[in-house]
Amino acid sequence: MRKKLAAGNWKMNGTTASLAEVDALLAAHPAPGCEILLCPPATLVSAMSARIGDGPIHTGGQDCHAEPSGAHTGDIAAGMLVDAGASHVILGHSERRQDHNESDKDVRNKAKAAIAAGLVAVVCCGESDAEREAMNTLEIISGQLAGSIPDNVTGENLVVAYEPIWAIGTGKVPTLDQIGEVHDFIRTQLERRFGEGVGRSVRLLYGGSVKPSNADDIFAVSNVDGALVGGASLKAADFSGIITAL
Ligand code: 13P
Repeated sequence: MRKKLAAGNWKMNGTTASLAEVDALLAAHPAPGCEILLCPPATLVSAMSARIGDGPIHTGGQDCHAEPSGAHTGDIAAGMLVDAGASHVILGHSERRQDHNESDKDVRNKAKAAIAAGLVAVVCCGESDAEREAMNTLEIISGQLAGSIPDNVTGENLVVAYEPIWAIGTGKVPTLDQIGEVHDFIRTQLERRFGEGVGRSVRLLYGGSVKPSNADDIFAVSNVDGALVGGASLKAADFSGIITAL
């Protein structure tokens, strides 16, 4: 059985004052029935993981470099995230693919390094509005998975997040059938590449305008093992509603 995962991506939001939201989440979910992950900006990873201590929330990064160290101003290595208390890292988010020109190959190299450093790589994929309109969704997802996921996957060390770009921060959500179609497709692709055992143990998250009010329906879709949540993960009260729905 795959353990459900509620993951929050704080993106470029939050200062030390925001750690009060973590306290509120810990108080609301002392023994959650699912895994909880919060990925704050890099400046907060260390403080957040220290604040959580032995609590039931994991801390993650939002990106890492493919190299272990060196002359890469502004970048962070996977081992540095581990050192700061992170257990996961989001890679290949569409905002990084767009804003930083990250290619599938870049994401694959980062994911390989993250897994080698002991992190769980949360690799994102998702089509644009135009790609869905052109009926190219599955082809795009297939290419992103083949190009972005490295070979050193054992099942537990990879999470795949399906985030249609047009659903991120827009309030628009695909139909449940559309989510199910893509998640079933991702599962099949993973089983083909890594074998049934590994392919079946990778968690698949849906991301894009998940809120407490739509979480129940989305979590009932086949092969949806949780959510990667942006805006609604910033406030404990909202994220709590999503955690409870899992
Ligand atoms: P929203 O939940 O704000 O739509 O963001 C989704 C996302 O990009 C999570 O990584």
